Amino acid sequence: MDLHDYNKLLDRAYEKIPENAKQSSRFEIPTVQLRIESKNTFITNFNKIINTLNRDARHFLGIFLKTAGTMGEIRGQQLFLKGIYKEQVLNRLIESYTKAYVLCDVCNKPDTQIQREAKKLFLKCGACGARRVIKEK
Ligand SMILES: [Zn+2]
Repeated sequence: MDLHDYNKLLDRAYEKIPENAKQSSRFEIPTVQLRIESKNTFITNFNKIINTLNRDARHFLGIFLKTAGTMGEIRGQQLFLKGIYKEQVLNRLIESYTKAYVLCDVCNKPDTQIQREAKKLFLKCGACGARRVIKEK
């Protein structure tokens, strides 16, 4: 196959992508789905949320539980929280984690990585290359 054919093939493949996928798709975190059981809360779609955030679950939990002011642990696909929590409260906590530890504050994309360097944590953006210091906890 010569280069010309290859390019044509690429063009054709690109045409098959639905229109809305070509635009930079907005980053959306799944909202929490809860199950309350004997005064405790389970986030039943936690696995989906942490996969979307693309962060280490331990890092997330360290901050999330501290700001929620409770204890909790991962149980299978779910996150167990001691106490009863409202959906909006948990969504807001996840959102603030996302702003602080996931989204690039220059281009607002979630294609970032947390890097440790010289005892500091950085959020490095794979989309625009920006880097900023983030707080440990
Ligand atoms: Zn960026």
